[in-house]
Amino acid sequence: MKFDTIIIGGGLSGLTCAISLSKKGQKCAVISAGQSALHFCSGSFDLLGYSNGSLVNEPLKAIASLPETHPYSLLGADRVASLTASVKPFFSEMGITFHGDESRNHFRITPMGGLKPTWLTLSDFTPIETADSLPWKKAAILNVSGFLDFHTAFIADGLEKFGVECSISAFSLPETDRIRKNPSEMRSSNLARIFEEEETLRKLVPIVNERGKDADIVILPSVFGLFSSRSMELLKSLTSVPICLLPAIPPSVPGIRVQYIIREYFRHLGGIYTLGDTVASGKFNGDVLKSISTVNQGDIELKADNFVLASGSFFSHGLAAQYKCVYEPIFNLDVVADADRSSWCDSNFFESQPYMSYGVATDADFHAKLGGKSIRNLYVAGSVLSGFNPVKESCGAGVSILTALHVADLIAKK
Ligand SMILES: Cc1cc2nc3c(=O)[nH]c(=O)nc-3n(C[C@H](O)[C@H](O)[C@H](O)COP(=O)(O)OP(=O)(O)OC[C@H]3O[C@@H](n4cnc5c(N)ncnc54)[C@H](O)[C@@H]3O)c2cc1C
Repeated sequence: MKFDTIIIGGGLSGLTCAISLSKKGQKCAVISAGQSALHFCSGSFDLLGYSNGSLVNEPLKAIASLPETHPYSLLGADRVASLTASVKPFFSEMGITFHGDESRNHFRITPMGGLKPTWLTLSDFTPIETADSLPWKKAAILNVSGFLDFHTAFIADGLEKFGVECSISAFSLPETDRIRKNPSEMRSSNLARIFEEEETLRKLVPIVNERGKDADIVILPSVFGLFSSRSMELLKSLTSVPICLLPAIPPSVPGIRVQYIIREYFRHLGGIYTLGDTVASGKFNGDVLKSISTVNQGDIELKADNFVLASGSFFSHGLAAQYKCVYEPIFNLDVVADADRSSWCDSNFFESQPYMSYGVATDADFHAKLGGKSIRNLYVAGSVLSGFNPVKESCGAGVSILTALHVADLIAKK
C-alpha cells in the first residue's frame, strides 16, 4: 500500500498534521495504536503558561526566553506567531470553537478549583481573565448523585480561596440512577451519553434554576457534549443562571469530542485512519525511510514518500525506558535523554522532572535523527519531540499543534 504521507499516531498532533496535508491534496494514512492524551484533556489548549518558573502573560513575547532546543525556538518566534494565528480558523472549520487568543493568556479553572494560564478554551467552558480573582461571589456546585469523579469539596475549597462562597449539592434523575447501579458505569462519558438525549437534558433545567437561584454561577461537571457542544449550548440557553463546566476525572468528555471531530474530519477529507494497529518497525535505505510494518498488517509493508512520527511521549508509548536507557521503540531513533538513570527524576515531586523533556532528537527542520544523521523523509511532531516540559511550561497542545502544522507545510513544499 502506497501513500503520499503516513502519520504514526492519531492524537492531536498526528491528526492535525494529517488534516493539514489532506487539505493540501495529499493521500494520507494515520495509524494509531490507541487513544490519545486528548482523552485526558482539560478543555483548554496551552501555548506557553510559564517560562523559567514565572507566569507568562503574553506567550508570543516570551518565546524569545526559551532555550534554543525548545520546539518553539526551532520554529522561531515569527513562525510561531503566524502558525498560532491559523489555529482558530483551522479548528472552527471543523466546528470546534474557542475562547481566547495568542496575544494574552487567560486562565482555566482546574479540577481542584485553582487557576492555570492557557491559550484556547473550548467555547462551552468558561475562561477567566485574571490569575487572582474570579468573577463570582456565590457559586452553587452541583454534582450528579453517585458521581465520584467530580471532587466538589476540593473545588469549593479552591474557589473559597478566591473569596467565592460555595454551596454543594447533588441531583439525581431516573436516567442517572440507572447507571448508578453499577459503580464502574458511573463515568463522565456514560453520563454524557445520557445527556445527549434532549428530553433528559431538559429535566435538568428546573434543577439548575432552583439550586442556582441565590448564586451567580452554577458549576457542573463536564459531562455534556460527547460529539458536539450542542447539548451544553441548549442547556445554557434554557437555564436562567449562568453555568460553568469544570473538568472531572478522565475520561475527558471535551477531549473525546475533539478527538472524534478531528478524526471524522480527516476521514471526510478522504484520509485513512486505522485505530488499534501498532507500527512495529521500518526499513531504511540510507537516509530514507522506505516502508513501515505494523503488528496487524504483518508482512504487508506500508510505503509512503514521507512519514511523520507523532506517537506521543511516555504516556502513549511513543517513548519508553529500560533500566539503562530511554529509547524510541519503533525505529530506535536518536533521543535526547540523560544517560545516567539517577538524573531522570528530581526527588522533589513538585520540581521540574527532567524526563518530561526527553524526546526524539531532530534537526532544525524536524527530521528525525538516526545514528546522528537526519532521515530526510521522516519528520517528528508533537509530544514525542524533545526539549520542552508540557507540565512545567504549560505548552503541550501548542507544541503538538504548531509542530504538526509546520511539518505539514514542509512536506507539502518539498
Ligand atoms: C494526561 C495528559 C493530559 C494532558 N492535558 C492537556 C491539556 O489539558 N491541555 C494541553 O494543552 N495539553 C495537555 N497535555 C499535553 C499533551 O501532550 C498535548 O496536549 C497533546 O494532546 C499531545 O498530542 P500528541 O498527538 O503529540 O500525542 P498523544 O496524544 O500522546 O498521541 C500519540 C498517539 O500515538 C499513538 N502511538 C504511540 N505509539 C504508536 C505506534 N508504535 N504505532 C501507532 N501508534 C502509536 C498512541 O496510541 C496515541 O494515539 C496532556 C498530556 C497528558 C499526558
